[in-house]
Amino acid sequence: MKREDADGRSFFNPRRTLRTAFDSMDPNMTRAFLPWVLRHPRHVLNFIHLARAFGASTRVRKGRRSEGMMVPSSLILSMTPDCNLNCAGCYAAATGAVPGKKAGGKDGWGGKKAPLRKALGIEGWRRIIRESSDLGVYCFILAGGEPFLFPELLSLPEDFRDRYFLIYTNGTAMRDSDFGRLRKLSNVTVFVSVEGSRDMTDARRGEGVHDLAMRSLDRLRRNGTMSGITVTITRYNYKY
Ligand code: SF4
Repeated sequence: MKREDADGRSFFNPRRTLRTAFDSMDPNMTRAFLPWVLRHPRHVLNFIHLARAFGASTRVRKGRRSEGMMVPSSLILSMTPDCNLNCAGCYAAATGAVPGKKAGGKDGWGGKKAPLRKALGIEGWRRIIRESSDLGVYCFILAGGEPFLFPELLSLPEDFRDRYFLIYTNGTAMRDSDFGRLRKLSNVTVFVSVEGSRDMTDARRGEGVHDLAMRSLDRLRRNGTMSGITVTITRYNYKY
């Protein structure tokens, strides 16, 4: 948004432009994103572009609705069935998505081992994102298994700069090159799973996992990549 100063010269006010763009999305988004974007000015122009793309996708979904088609704003993509951990109560294993791990049963671990399934390749995922974007989907949640074990994971946000990506990771499989690529992206938030204290995380996820997860979170913060944590709330950690 261009404004004029007292001498009639026009100037660009990023805070005002961003606020206008975000307010058109959702006031909660303004609260979450605006302070972060202003702390990382290299993302300002990209966020204005993303906010406009969000508005356009909302209009596309409204148009679809008037045709009788309900399109969600977000899709969850389980990028890979592979995982390097073996957490207690893993829902991906419980639903039979993780090959070689036991599925089903009352406690989520009984029953048979999940069968090997043919995973979708990068072109298949690109096609799904392209087609659902045409229908008005704006946000893609990249989950697993462990999504960073999918070799070309970050080529998706790199290729679709007008869509937003949330990556849910256990924080133990990110490579140096992943941090370098994430640093250049404005359209990704990375969520790392922790269960609370070191003991709580390690009890569920394995010895040493908490420290690796915290190290990844620290690198993401220093990287200037928007990040957060995800927690499975249980009777053991809800007070923490
Ligand atoms: S990191 Fe996630 S997918 Fe992997 S075992 Fe743990 S809960 Fe399951």
